[in-house]
Amino acid sequence: MPLEFFKENEQVFNTLFEAASEGVVVVNAKQIIVTVNTAALEMFGYSKNELLGAHLNILIPEKYKANHYEHFDSFMEHSEKRRMGHGRELFGVKKSGEQFPVEAGLNPFKVDGECFVMSLIVDITIRKENQRQIRELNTELEGKIKIRTQELSNTVDNLEKEIAKRKEAEKRIKLALKQEKELNELKTKFLSLVSHEFKTPLSGILTSALLAEKYTQTEQQAKRTKHLTTIKNKVHYLNNILNDFLSLERLESGNVNYKYTAFSLNKLVNEVIYNANVTLKYGQEIDYNIDMEDITLYQDEKILELILSNLIGNSIKYSPEDSTIYFRIYSKDKKIIFEVEDEGMGIPQKDQKHIFERYFRAENALLNQGTGIGLNIVKVHVENMGGTIFFESEENKGSKFTVILPNQNR
Ligand code: ADP
Repeated sequence: MPLEFFKENEQVFNTLFEAASEGVVVVNAKQIIVTVNTAALEMFGYSKNELLGAHLNILIPEKYKANHYEHFDSFMEHSEKRRMGHGRELFGVKKSGEQFPVEAGLNPFKVDGECFVMSLIVDITIRKENQRQIRELNTELEGKIKIRTQELSNTVDNLEKEIAKRKEAEKRIKLALKQEKELNELKTKFLSLVSHEFKTPLSGILTSALLAEKYTQTEQQAKRTKHLTTIKNKVHYLNNILNDFLSLERLESGNVNYKYTAFSLNKLVNEVIYNANVTLKYGQEIDYNIDMEDITLYQDEKILELILSNLIGNSIKYSPEDSTIYFRIYSKDKKIIFEVEDEGMGIPQKDQKHIFERYFRAENALLNQGTGIGLNIVKVHVENMGGTIFFESEENKGSKFTVILPNQNR
Protein backbone atom coordinates (compact mmCIF):
# COMPACT_ATOMS: atom_id res chain seq x y z
CA MET A 1 0.00 0.00 0.00
CA PRO A 2 1.50 3.27 -0.98
CA LEU A 3 -0.01 5.03 2.10
CA GLU A 4 1.70 2.34 4.13
CA PHE A 5 4.84 3.00 2.17
CA PHE A 6 4.78 6.63 3.27
CA LYS A 7 4.05 5.63 6.84
CA GLU A 8 6.87 3.12 6.90
CA ASN A 9 9.29 5.56 5.45
CA GLU A 10 8.14 8.45 7.56
CA GLN A 11 11.58 8.87 8.93
CA VAL A 12 13.04 9.41 5.49
CA PHE A 13 10.29 11.77 4.37
CA ASN A 14 10.34 13.68 7.59
CA THR A 15 14.00 14.40 7.14
CA LEU A 16 13.36 15.50 3.58
CA PHE A 17 10.22 17.46 4.19
CA GLU A 18 11.17 19.05 7.44
CA ALA A 19 14.24 20.54 5.78
CA ALA A 20 11.95 22.49 3.46
CA SER A 21 10.80 25.88 4.67
CA GLU A 22 7.70 25.65 2.45
CA GLY A 23 4.70 23.67 3.55
CA VAL A 24 4.69 20.28 1.85
CA VAL A 25 1.45 18.35 1.30
CA VAL A 26 1.43 15.13 -0.65
CA VAL A 27 -1.86 13.76 -1.99
CA ASN A 28 -2.75 10.69 -3.99
CA ALA A 29 -4.82 10.62 -7.14
CA LYS A 30 -7.96 10.85 -5.03
CA GLN A 31 -6.61 13.97 -3.37
CA ILE A 32 -6.25 12.22 -0.07
CA ILE A 33 -3.45 13.70 1.96
CA VAL A 34 -0.80 11.08 2.48
CA THR A 35 1.80 13.19 4.17
CA VAL A 36 2.50 16.74 5.32
CA ASN A 37 5.50 18.44 6.87
CA THR A 38 5.58 20.55 10.04
CA ALA A 39 5.75 23.79 8.06
CA ALA A 40 2.41 22.88 6.40
CA LEU A 41 0.90 21.87 9.76
CA GLU A 42 1.89 25.19 11.28
CA MET A 43 0.67 27.03 8.26
CA PHE A 44 -2.79 25.43 8.33
CA GLY A 45 -3.03 24.98 12.13
CA TYR A 46 -3.72 21.25 12.10
CA SER A 47 -2.02 18.37 13.86
CA LYS A 48 -0.58 15.69 11.66
CA ASN A 49 -3.26 13.15 12.63
CA GLU A 50 -6.01 15.48 11.55
CA LEU A 51 -4.61 15.87 8.06
CA LEU A 52 -3.30 12.42 7.20
CA GLY A 53 -6.01 10.55 5.32
CA ALA A 54 -8.12 13.70 4.97
CA HIS A 55 -9.22 15.07 1.63
CA LEU A 56 -7.18 17.94 0.24
CA ASN A 57 -10.40 19.98 0.26
CA ILE A 58 -9.88 20.56 3.95
CA LEU A 59 -7.12 23.01 3.03
CA ILE A 60 -9.05 24.77 0.26
CA PRO A 61 -11.63 27.52 0.88
CA GLU A 62 -15.20 26.55 -0.01
CA LYS A 63 -15.60 28.88 -2.99
CA TYR A 64 -12.45 27.61 -4.77
CA LYS A 65 -13.29 23.93 -4.38
CA ALA A 66 -15.30 23.43 -7.57
CA ASN A 67 -12.57 25.02 -9.59
CA HIS A 68 -9.99 23.08 -7.84
CA TYR A 69 -11.48 19.74 -8.92
CA GLU A 70 -11.35 20.70 -12.56
CA HIS A 71 -7.84 21.96 -12.26
CA PHE A 72 -6.71 18.93 -10.35
CA ASP A 73 -8.16 16.45 -12.88
CA SER A 74 -6.72 18.22 -15.89
CA PHE A 75 -3.47 18.46 -14.02
CA MET A 76 -3.43 14.72 -13.38
CA GLU A 77 -4.08 14.06 -17.06
CA HIS A 78 -1.12 16.17 -18.20
CA SER A 79 0.85 15.35 -15.16
CA GLU A 80 3.84 17.65 -15.17
CA LYS A 81 5.60 19.93 -12.75
CA ARG A 82 4.24 23.46 -12.59
CA ARG A 83 3.14 26.38 -10.48
CA MET A 84 -0.44 26.64 -9.47
CA GLY A 85 -2.60 29.63 -9.97
CA HIS A 86 -1.58 31.09 -13.33
CA GLY A 87 -2.16 34.66 -12.43
CA ARG A 88 -5.12 33.83 -10.17
CA GLU A 89 -4.80 34.46 -6.47
CA LEU A 90 -4.71 31.23 -4.49
CA PHE A 91 -5.99 30.88 -0.98
CA GLY A 92 -5.64 28.27 1.71
CA VAL A 93 -7.93 27.82 4.71
CA LYS A 94 -6.70 27.18 8.21
CA LYS A 95 -8.36 24.93 10.72
CA SER A 96 -9.68 28.10 12.37
CA GLY A 97 -11.47 28.90 9.08
CA GLU A 98 -9.19 31.87 8.43
CA GLN A 99 -8.20 32.18 4.78
CA PHE A 100 -4.77 33.24 3.72
CA PRO A 101 -3.04 33.82 0.41
CA VAL A 102 -0.69 31.11 -0.77
CA GLU A 103 1.62 30.32 -3.60
CA ALA A 104 1.77 26.64 -4.56
CA GLY A 105 3.96 24.56 -6.83
CA LEU A 106 2.75 21.12 -7.90
CA ASN A 107 5.10 18.22 -8.43
CA PRO A 108 3.55 14.99 -9.65
CA PHE A 109 5.38 11.72 -9.12
CA LYS A 110 4.75 7.99 -9.17
CA VAL A 111 5.53 5.37 -6.61
CA ASP A 112 4.84 1.75 -7.55
CA GLY A 113 2.71 2.92 -10.45
CA GLU A 114 0.49 5.05 -8.24
CA CYS A 115 0.27 8.79 -8.87
CA PHE A 116 0.94 11.35 -6.21
CA VAL A 117 1.22 15.06 -6.21
CA MET A 118 3.46 16.94 -3.90
CA SER A 119 2.40 20.55 -3.31
CA LEU A 120 4.96 23.01 -2.08
CA ILE A 121 3.00 25.77 -0.37
CA VAL A 122 4.24 29.18 0.73
CA ASP A 123 2.18 31.46 2.95
CA ILE A 124 2.40 34.79 1.18
CA THR A 125 0.31 36.77 3.71
CA ILE A 126 3.28 38.96 4.62
CA ARG A 127 4.31 39.43 1.01
CA LYS A 128 0.75 40.35 0.08
CA GLU A 129 0.56 42.72 3.03
CA ASN A 130 3.85 44.28 1.92
CA GLN A 131 2.52 44.58 -1.60
CA ARG A 132 -0.66 46.14 -0.27
CA GLN A 133 1.36 48.60 1.78
CA ILE A 134 3.52 49.40 -1.23
CA ARG A 135 0.40 49.96 -3.32
CA GLU A 136 -1.03 52.15 -0.57
CA LEU A 137 2.22 54.09 -0.35
CA ASN A 138 2.25 54.45 -4.12
CA THR A 139 -1.32 55.73 -4.12
CA GLU A 140 -0.44 58.10 -1.30
CA LEU A 141 2.67 59.19 -3.18
CA GLU A 142 0.71 59.70 -6.38
CA GLY A 143 -1.78 61.78 -4.42
CA LYS A 144 1.04 63.84 -2.97
CA ILE A 145 2.62 64.23 -6.40
CA LYS A 146 -0.76 65.37 -7.77
CA ILE A 147 -1.11 67.92 -4.97
CA ARG A 148 2.49 69.11 -5.43
CA THR A 149 2.02 69.30 -9.20
CA GLN A 150 -1.16 71.31 -8.67
CA GLU A 151 0.67 73.54 -6.18
CA LEU A 152 3.51 74.00 -8.63
CA SER A 153 1.15 74.80 -11.45
CA ASN A 154 -0.64 77.28 -9.14
CA THR A 155 2.71 78.84 -8.29
CA VAL A 156 3.57 79.05 -11.99
CA ASP A 157 0.14 80.60 -12.66
CA ASN A 158 0.65 83.11 -9.87
CA LEU A 159 4.13 83.88 -11.11
CA GLU A 160 2.81 84.41 -14.60
CA LYS A 161 0.12 86.72 -13.23
CA GLU A 162 2.75 88.56 -11.19
CA ILE A 163 4.97 88.90 -14.28
CA ALA A 164 2.02 90.21 -16.29
CA LYS A 165 1.21 92.67 -13.47
CA ARG A 166 4.80 93.87 -13.35
CA LYS A 167 4.93 94.23 -17.11
CA GLU A 168 1.71 96.23 -16.92
CA ALA A 169 3.17 98.42 -14.13
CA GLU A 170 6.36 98.85 -16.15
CA LYS A 171 4.28 99.88 -19.15
CA ARG A 172 2.38 102.38 -17.01
CA ILE A 173 5.59 103.80 -15.57
CA LYS A 174 7.10 104.08 -19.04
CA LEU A 175 3.97 105.81 -20.27
CA ALA A 176 3.98 108.18 -17.28
CA LEU A 177 7.66 108.93 -17.92
CA LYS A 178 6.95 109.53 -21.59
CA GLN A 179 4.05 111.82 -20.72
CA GLU A 180 6.19 113.65 -18.20
CA LYS A 181 8.89 114.08 -20.83
CA GLU A 182 6.37 115.29 -23.38
CA LEU A 183 4.94 117.69 -20.82
CA ASN A 184 8.38 119.07 -20.08
CA GLU A 185 9.06 119.51 -23.76
CA LEU A 186 5.71 121.27 -24.14
CA LYS A 187 6.48 123.55 -21.20
CA THR A 188 9.84 124.50 -22.69
CA LYS A 189 8.16 125.07 -26.02
CA PHE A 190 5.48 127.10 -24.28
CA LEU A 191 7.97 129.29 -22.42
CA SER A 192 9.84 130.19 -25.59
CA LEU A 193 6.52 130.72 -27.31
CA VAL A 194 5.24 133.07 -24.61
CA SER A 195 8.47 135.07 -24.56
CA HIS A 196 8.18 135.41 -28.31
CA GLU A 197 4.46 136.10 -28.06
CA PHE A 198 4.98 138.98 -25.66
CA LYS A 199 8.15 140.28 -27.23
CA THR A 200 6.68 141.15 -30.67
CA PRO A 201 3.61 143.08 -29.49
CA LEU A 202 5.64 144.79 -26.75
CA SER A 203 8.24 146.04 -29.23
CA GLY A 204 5.33 147.11 -31.51
CA ILE A 205 3.82 149.02 -28.61
CA LEU A 206 7.20 150.60 -27.87
CA THR A 207 7.69 151.65 -31.51
CA SER A 208 4.16 153.10 -31.76
CA ALA A 209 4.61 154.96 -28.46
CA LEU A 210 7.95 156.38 -29.65
CA LEU A 211 6.39 157.46 -32.95
CA ALA A 212 3.27 158.92 -31.31
CA GLU A 213 5.54 160.91 -29.05
CA LYS A 214 7.04 162.62 -32.10
CA TYR A 215 3.71 164.04 -33.29
CA THR A 216 3.36 167.03 -31.06
CA GLN A 217 1.36 169.31 -33.38
CA THR A 218 -2.42 169.52 -33.01
CA GLU A 219 -2.97 168.79 -36.71
CA GLN A 220 -1.01 165.56 -36.36
CA GLN A 221 -3.84 164.00 -34.30
CA ALA A 222 -4.69 161.49 -37.09
CA LYS A 223 -1.16 160.03 -36.95
CA ARG A 224 -1.22 159.95 -33.18
CA THR A 225 -4.57 158.15 -33.26
CA LYS A 226 -3.18 155.55 -35.73
CA HIS A 227 -0.31 154.71 -33.39
CA LEU A 228 -2.55 154.77 -30.33
CA THR A 229 -4.90 152.32 -32.10
CA THR A 230 -1.96 150.02 -32.80
CA ILE A 231 -1.00 150.25 -29.14
CA LYS A 232 -4.60 149.54 -28.05
CA ASN A 233 -4.83 146.53 -30.37
CA LYS A 234 -1.58 145.08 -29.16
CA VAL A 235 -2.48 145.65 -25.52
CA HIS A 236 -5.83 144.03 -26.28
CA TYR A 237 -4.02 141.05 -27.79
CA LEU A 238 -1.71 140.70 -24.77
CA ASN A 239 -4.72 141.11 -22.51
CA ASN A 240 -6.40 138.19 -24.32
CA ILE A 241 -3.38 135.99 -23.77
CA LEU A 242 -3.34 136.88 -20.07
CA ASN A 243 -7.08 136.18 -19.94
CA ASP A 244 -6.44 132.77 -21.42
CA PHE A 245 -3.89 132.14 -18.69
CA LEU A 246 -6.34 133.25 -16.03
CA SER A 247 -9.05 131.06 -17.57
CA LEU A 248 -6.66 128.19 -17.46
CA GLU A 249 -5.79 128.88 -13.86
CA ARG A 250 -9.48 129.07 -12.91
CA LEU A 251 -10.33 125.90 -14.83
CA GLU A 252 -7.43 124.13 -13.16
CA SER A 253 -8.49 125.14 -9.65
CA GLY A 254 -12.15 124.39 -10.39
CA ASN A 255 -13.10 128.05 -9.84
CA VAL A 256 -15.40 128.43 -12.84
CA ASN A 257 -19.03 128.93 -12.04
CA TYR A 258 -21.18 128.66 -15.11
CA LYS A 259 -23.99 131.19 -15.22
CA TYR A 260 -26.82 129.58 -17.13
CA THR A 261 -29.34 132.01 -18.56
CA ALA A 262 -31.82 132.03 -21.42
CA PHE A 263 -30.67 134.18 -24.33
CA SER A 264 -31.21 134.68 -28.05
CA LEU A 265 -28.94 132.61 -30.24
CA ASN A 266 -29.13 135.19 -33.06
CA LYS A 267 -27.95 137.96 -30.79
CA LEU A 268 -24.97 135.90 -29.67
CA VAL A 269 -24.07 134.88 -33.23
CA ASN A 270 -24.24 138.47 -34.43
CA GLU A 271 -21.92 139.55 -31.67
CA VAL A 272 -19.42 136.83 -32.45
CA ILE A 273 -19.51 137.59 -36.18
CA TYR A 274 -19.25 141.33 -35.55
CA ASN A 275 -16.13 140.92 -33.40
CA ALA A 276 -14.59 138.40 -35.79
CA ASN A 277 -15.19 140.61 -38.84
CA VAL A 278 -12.84 143.20 -37.35
CA THR A 279 -9.96 140.72 -37.40
CA LEU A 280 -10.54 139.26 -40.90
CA LYS A 281 -7.58 139.24 -43.26
CA TYR A 282 -7.76 140.91 -46.65
CA GLY A 283 -10.44 139.28 -48.81
CA GLN A 284 -11.62 136.90 -46.07
CA GLU A 285 -15.33 136.55 -45.38
CA ILE A 286 -17.50 134.64 -42.94
CA ASP A 287 -20.34 132.74 -44.54
CA TYR A 288 -23.17 131.96 -42.08
CA ASN A 289 -26.91 131.34 -42.16
CA ILE A 290 -27.84 134.92 -41.51
CA ASP A 291 -31.64 134.49 -41.78
CA MET A 292 -31.65 131.61 -39.29
CA GLU A 293 -34.80 131.26 -37.23
CA ASP A 294 -34.03 132.48 -33.74
CA ILE A 295 -33.71 130.03 -30.91
CA THR A 296 -33.59 130.68 -27.21
CA LEU A 297 -30.62 128.97 -25.69
CA TYR A 298 -30.14 128.10 -22.08
CA GLN A 299 -26.40 128.09 -21.55
CA ASP A 300 -23.58 130.26 -20.19
CA GLU A 301 -23.67 133.02 -22.82
CA LYS A 302 -20.22 134.49 -22.14
CA ILE A 303 -18.50 131.11 -22.21
CA LEU A 304 -20.31 130.10 -25.40
CA GLU A 305 -19.19 133.38 -26.96
CA LEU A 306 -15.61 132.59 -25.89
CA ILE A 307 -15.86 129.11 -27.46
CA LEU A 308 -17.22 130.31 -30.80
CA SER A 309 -14.90 133.35 -30.98
CA ASN A 310 -11.95 131.10 -30.33
CA LEU A 311 -12.86 128.65 -33.12
CA ILE A 312 -13.62 131.42 -35.64
CA GLY A 313 -10.48 133.30 -34.52
CA ASN A 314 -8.38 130.21 -35.26
CA SER A 315 -10.00 129.78 -38.67
CA ILE A 316 -9.16 133.38 -39.52
CA LYS A 317 -5.62 133.07 -38.19
CA TYR A 318 -4.81 129.78 -39.94
CA SER A 319 -6.44 130.64 -43.30
CA PRO A 320 -4.98 132.75 -46.08
CA GLU A 321 -6.34 135.98 -47.48
CA ASP A 322 -9.30 135.70 -49.89
CA SER A 323 -10.68 132.59 -48.24
CA THR A 324 -14.07 131.85 -46.74
CA ILE A 325 -14.90 130.70 -43.21
CA TYR A 326 -18.17 128.81 -42.98
CA PHE A 327 -20.11 129.14 -39.76
CA ARG A 328 -23.14 126.85 -39.58
CA ILE A 329 -25.61 126.32 -36.76
CA TYR A 330 -28.16 123.51 -36.54
CA SER A 331 -30.65 122.60 -33.92
CA LYS A 332 -31.53 118.93 -33.60
CA ASP A 333 -33.04 116.67 -30.90
CA LYS A 334 -32.59 119.16 -28.07
CA LYS A 335 -29.05 119.70 -29.22
CA ILE A 336 -27.44 122.69 -30.81
CA ILE A 337 -24.64 122.05 -33.29
CA PHE A 338 -22.02 124.65 -34.30
CA GLU A 339 -19.67 124.05 -37.23
CA VAL A 340 -16.70 126.27 -38.06
CA GLU A 341 -15.04 125.31 -41.32
CA ASP A 342 -12.15 126.96 -43.16
CA GLU A 343 -9.98 126.59 -46.26
CA GLY A 344 -6.76 127.12 -44.36
CA MET A 345 -3.50 125.31 -43.72
CA GLY A 346 -5.16 122.41 -41.90
CA ILE A 347 -3.59 120.30 -39.18
CA PRO A 348 -0.92 117.70 -40.09
CA GLN A 349 -2.13 114.15 -39.48
CA LYS A 350 0.61 113.39 -36.94
CA ASP A 351 -0.31 116.44 -34.80
CA GLN A 352 -4.05 115.88 -34.80
CA LYS A 353 -4.18 113.66 -31.73
CA HIS A 354 -2.50 116.36 -29.62
CA ILE A 355 -4.48 119.33 -30.83
CA PHE A 356 -6.59 119.73 -27.66
CA GLU A 357 -3.57 119.33 -25.38
CA ARG A 358 -2.55 122.43 -23.51
CA TYR A 359 0.31 124.44 -25.10
CA PHE A 360 0.34 122.19 -28.12
CA ARG A 361 0.80 123.88 -31.47
CA ALA A 362 1.03 122.04 -34.78
CA GLU A 363 4.28 122.20 -36.67
CA ASN A 364 2.80 124.16 -39.60
CA ALA A 365 1.32 126.80 -37.24
CA LEU A 366 4.53 127.85 -35.53
CA LEU A 367 5.04 130.93 -37.72
CA ASN A 368 1.65 132.29 -36.63
CA GLN A 369 1.22 133.92 -33.26
CA GLY A 370 -0.39 131.71 -30.66
CA THR A 371 0.00 129.98 -27.31
CA GLY A 372 -1.66 126.60 -27.78
CA ILE A 373 -4.06 127.29 -24.90
CA GLY A 374 -7.27 128.28 -26.71
CA LEU A 375 -8.50 124.88 -27.90
CA ASN A 376 -7.66 123.28 -24.58
CA ILE A 377 -9.82 125.82 -22.74
CA VAL A 378 -12.59 125.45 -25.31
CA LYS A 379 -12.68 121.68 -24.91
CA VAL A 380 -12.78 121.82 -21.10
CA HIS A 381 -15.63 124.37 -21.20
CA VAL A 382 -17.61 122.43 -23.81
CA GLU A 383 -17.33 119.27 -21.76
CA ASN A 384 -18.18 121.07 -18.52
CA MET A 385 -21.32 122.33 -20.23
CA GLY A 386 -22.31 118.78 -21.14
CA GLY A 387 -21.20 118.97 -24.77
CA THR A 388 -18.61 117.49 -27.12
CA ILE A 389 -16.10 118.93 -29.56
CA PHE A 390 -14.31 117.23 -32.47
CA PHE A 391 -12.72 118.15 -35.77
CA GLU A 392 -11.73 116.93 -39.19
CA SER A 393 -8.74 118.43 -40.95
CA GLU A 394 -6.48 117.90 -43.90
CA GLU A 395 -3.20 119.71 -44.32
CA ASN A 396 -3.33 122.51 -46.94
CA LYS A 397 -7.05 121.87 -47.49
CA GLY A 398 -8.75 123.13 -44.34
CA SER A 399 -10.31 122.22 -41.01
CA LYS A 400 -13.80 121.80 -39.64
CA PHE A 401 -14.47 122.05 -35.90
CA THR A 402 -17.84 120.86 -34.55
CA VAL A 403 -19.29 121.66 -31.12
CA ILE A 404 -22.43 119.91 -29.93
CA LEU A 405 -24.12 121.35 -26.86
CA PRO A 406 -27.30 120.28 -25.10
CA ASN A 407 -30.07 122.89 -25.19
CA GLN A 408 -32.31 122.34 -22.21
CA ASN A 409 -34.64 125.19 -23.19
CA ARG A 410 -36.18 123.72 -26.32
P1 ADP B 1 -3.07 128.83 -30.73
O1 ADP B 1 -3.93 129.15 -31.89
O2 ADP B 1 -2.90 129.95 -29.79
O3 ADP B 1 -1.77 128.22 -31.15
P2 ADP B 1 -5.08 126.88 -30.00
O4 ADP B 1 -5.20 126.08 -28.78
O5 ADP B 1 -6.23 127.75 -30.36
O6 ADP B 1 -3.76 127.68 -29.85
O7 ADP B 1 -4.81 125.88 -31.17
C1 ADP B 1 -3.87 124.89 -31.03
C2 ADP B 1 -3.25 124.50 -32.35
O8 ADP B 1 -4.23 123.90 -33.16
C3 ADP B 1 -2.78 125.67 -33.16
O9 ADP B 1 -1.49 126.07 -32.79
C4 ADP B 1 -2.83 125.09 -34.56
O10 ADP B 1 -1.68 124.33 -34.80
C5 ADP B 1 -4.01 124.19 -34.52
N1 ADP B 1 -5.24 124.79 -35.04
C6 ADP B 1 -6.32 125.21 -34.35
N2 ADP B 1 -7.28 125.65 -35.17
C7 ADP B 1 -6.82 125.50 -36.41
C8 ADP B 1 -7.36 125.75 -37.72
N3 ADP B 1 -8.59 126.26 -37.88
N4 ADP B 1 -6.60 125.46 -38.80
C9 ADP B 1 -5.37 124.93 -38.64
N5 ADP B 1 -4.79 124.67 -37.44
C10 ADP B 1 -5.52 124.93 -36.34
